Amino acid sequence: MNDAAPVYLDYAATTPVDPRVAREMQQCLTAEGDFGNASSAHAYGAAAAARIGRARAQVAALVGADAQEITFTSGATESNNLAILGAAHANAHRGRHLLTLRTEHKAVLDPYRHLEKSGFTATYLTPARNGVLEPAVLAAALRPDTVLVSIMYANNETGVLQDIRALGALCRERGIVFHSDCAQAAGKLALDVHALPVDLVSFTAHKLCGPKGVGALYVARSARPRLWPVSFGGGQEQGLRPGTLPTHQIAGFGLACELAHRELSTEPARLEALRVRLWEGLATLPDAHLNGAGAPHAPGILNVSFGGVDGESLISGLEGLAVSAGAACNSETGEPSYVLRALGRDSRLAESSLRFSFGRFTRESDVDFAVRAVRRQVLRLRSMSPAAPIASVPGVVGAAWPPEEEIAGELVAGEAGSPAEGTWVRFQLRVGAGKVKDARFLVLGCPHTMDTVAWLCAQLPGRSREALVPGSPADWAEARAVPVEKLGRLLVVEDALRACRARWA
Ligand SMILES: *Cc1c(COP(=O)(O)O)cnc(C)c1O
Repeated sequence: MNDAAPVYLDYAATTPVDPRVAREMQQCLTAEGDFGNASSAHAYGAAAAARIGRARAQVAALVGADAQEITFTSGATESNNLAILGAAHANAHRGRHLLTLRTEHKAVLDPYRHLEKSGFTATYLTPARNGVLEPAVLAAALRPDTVLVSIMYANNETGVLQDIRALGALCRERGIVFHSDCAQAAGKLALDVHALPVDLVSFTAHKLCGPKGVGALYVARSARPRLWPVSFGGGQEQGLRPGTLPTHQIAGFGLACELAHRELSTEPARLEALRVRLWEGLATLPDAHLNGAGAPHAPGILNVSFGGVDGESLISGLEGLAVSAGAACNSETGEPSYVLRALGRDSRLAESSLRFSFGRFTRESDVDFAVRAVRRQVLRLRSMSPAAPIASVPGVVGAAWPPEEEIAGELVAGEAGSPAEGTWVRFQLRVGAGKVKDARFLVLGCPHTMDTVAWLCAQLPGRSREALVPGSPADWAEARAVPVEKLGRLLVVEDALRACRARWA
C-alpha cells in the first residue's frame, strides 16, 4: 500500500504476511524449489515431506502439542467444521446434545445450526455482561446426553478470554469432547494444550502473520477415536483431512508459528501497552464504553462503543483508519454485532462500536493516530446530531458552530426538549484546560426562554465543569422576570446544561 494508505488496526480480521514467511513460501513453488507432492516416493516428494514435517513440529511447538497431533486444514473455519461435525457424528451413539456460547465465531455457530437440522439439539449459552462464561453456568447446562462442548479462548470481536481450564475440566470429568477455537489466541498468548483439559483446538495461520488458506486442528491422541473425518480421499493427515498437502502454505504457517513463538515472551506485553495507550486516549471521551470491561482479555484487541453517534457515520468519517465497525462482521445482514448484543449492549450502542486490533507491525504512532482520528470524528458527530435538522426548523434562534468547522480543542454539546413540546435548547461549549472557553446556543421556544438562554450562555465562559450550571431555574426566573407558569421551560434549559456537563469528561 502507498503512503496515503489507511493505518491498519484490523489484525483480528487478518494480518500481513511476515516477509520472512513470504520468502519461505516462495521456496516451495517453482521448479528450483520444493514443489513436489509430499505423498510421492521420489526425491521431490521427500523434500516436500521434509518441509511439511518441519512445519508440523513448528506448529506443535507453539501450542505444546506433539507433531502427530497436528492435522493441517485450510484454516480455522475448516478446523472448526471438522472438529464439530466430526465429533458430533462420532459420538452420536452416546447422545445428541451439543453446547456452545452465543458469542462464538460463525465458523462454530454455523456447523451447530447445521447439526440441529440433522437430529442434534444445541444449547447456546449467554455469557455474563463482561463476556465471560461462568463455569457454573456451563455445569448447570450439561446434560447426560451432552457429547460436545465448543468454547473459544479469545473472542475475535472483544478479545475477552474464557476460562478454558475450568470449562474443559467440567467436560473431561463427564467424558464430553471439548473443542476450543483458538484462532485469536495462538501466537498471542502462551498456550499449552497438554496442560489444558482440551481435546480439539482450532488454529489459523493468517491471524499470526502467516498466509491465508491454511490452519490446523489439534487432535489430542486420546480424542482421536472420538473424531470422524468429514471428507474422504487419499488418506493424508491420518485420513482425517485427505488431499494433497499445500507445501508452501504449510511451510509458511510453520515459520509464522516459530516467529510468533520466539516473540512470545515480549510481544504480548508490547501489545498490551498499545492497548492501554489506545483506551486511555479514548476513555476521556464522554459516553465511551469498553466492551468486555473487567474481563481477562487478549492483548491485541480493544472494542469500544460510543454513545450518541450513528454507527455508519462513525465509520464513514474514518477513512484514514482500517478498523472493524460493530455492524461489519454481519454486513450482509446489516444487523449489529450479535457478540456485543449478547453482552447486553442495545443495538444502537452495538452499532456505534469500533474494534481496534493490532499486532507485529503496529507502532505507538499508529495508535496515537487512531486516538486523534476517532476523537475528532466522535466529537464532530455529536456536535452535529441532531441539531442539524432541528436548527433549520423555523423559529430557532442563536448560532451554533457549523459542523464543518475544524474543531480546535474539545467541543461539548448538550440539548434537551423537542420542537414538538414547544421548547428545544442546545448549548455548545468549546472547552480546554478544564474551563469553558466559549459558548453558543440554539433555542426554539417562547421569548422568555430565548432571553434566559442567551443570558445564561453569556455567563458560561470561564466556568469549570462542576460550576457549569449558574444557579437554578428559580434563580433565573427571578433574575429575568419569567412568569411562574413558564418554569417548566426553564427546566428544559437546565437539562440542556446538565447534558453538556454529562458529556464533558
Ligand atoms: C478468523 C477466525 C476464524 C476463521 O478463520 P479462517 O482461517 O479465516 O477460516 C475462526 N474463528 C475465529 C475466532 C477467528 O478469529
